[in-house]
Amino acid sequence: MVLAQLGGSISRALQNMSNSTVIDEAVFHDCLNEINRALLQADVQFELIRNMHANIKNIVNLDGLAAGHSKRKIIQQAVFDELCKMLDPTTGIKSSSFFFPKKGKTSVVMFVGLQGSGKTTTCTKYAHYYQKKGLKPGLVCADTFRAGAFDQLKQNATKAKIPFYGSYMESDPVKIAVEGVERFKEENCDLIILDTSGRHKQEAALFEEMRQLSEATKPDLVIFVMDSSIGQAAFGQAQAFKQSVAVGAVIITKMDGHAKGGGSLSAVAATKSHVIFLGTGEHMDEFEVFEVRPFVRRLLG
Ligand code: GDP
Repeated sequence: MVLAQLGGSISRALQNMSNSTVIDEAVFHDCLNEINRALLQADVQFELIRNMHANIKNIVNLDGLAAGHSKRKIIQQAVFDELCKMLDPTTGIKSSSFFFPKKGKTSVVMFVGLQGSGKTTTCTKYAHYYQKKGLKPGLVCADTFRAGAFDQLKQNATKAKIPFYGSYMESDPVKIAVEGVERFKEENCDLIILDTSGRHKQEAALFEEMRQLSEATKPDLVIFVMDSSIGQAAFGQAQAFKQSVAVGAVIITKMDGHAKGGGSLSAVAATKSHVIFLGTGEHMDEFEVFEVRPFVRRLLG
């Protein structure tokens, strides 16, 4: 089920409820069950659905509502708010406490994720996004595991006219990362981006390498990049990364494909961080800022 379908199914459940002449417990119950089914089909983790269901039931107390209150509106608002909360556990927390790269201050941002998730592509998109905002980025290839990673990032960086640091000869990613960060600090870059190696699956060696890289470069932000199509595996994968490094934000890629919506909801829940961007294609500009409320509004149509 693609994300738009998930929104469509939830909207339909709310619409069916609205069409009933009387909104009583039975109608409310049917509506919530329909929403649960839609979320399950979209690969949202069962635990999350159960929590959402309980929260909505707690908020909406049909018996306690005085006459004249629009039950329909109260239920719709509760569903909307819970979907927002699911997508961003930091909803309601002041955004000034989040990390944003700033001009005139050197920040280090480390990207992590499995091989093929779109990490390297996303590093350049992220750099390009802030370059357009007037910041001076630098890209460091600390992926010595995948043959071709160096050339790919270098090519992308050159195309976007972003300074690049990497090595064909050096096999120690920590050494490259430290040297790259130093180099770009000397060049007064505002935003130093580290592309780290992925693996085909979650494995101890990858997590150990990530820990060492993080220890050596002390990133201001660690971004977990996840392919939107991984479905039910999302929660476990995101949790494994979060246990190794301090993931502070998530970027979901390949939202242009047959992406299931549930993966992003689960990744957010597992990392207790928020989605900051969505990848919507292979090209540099196919990159969208993620904003929860407009996203959910659009999702529900
Ligand atoms: P890495 O192994 O995680 O560094 O992944 P890459 O950046 O090499 O990306 C793997 C493949 O996914 C490449 O063919 C990219 O062009 C493609 N890709 C990355 N992001 C997106 C996206 O948002 N949409 C689509 N359609 N393809 C993407």
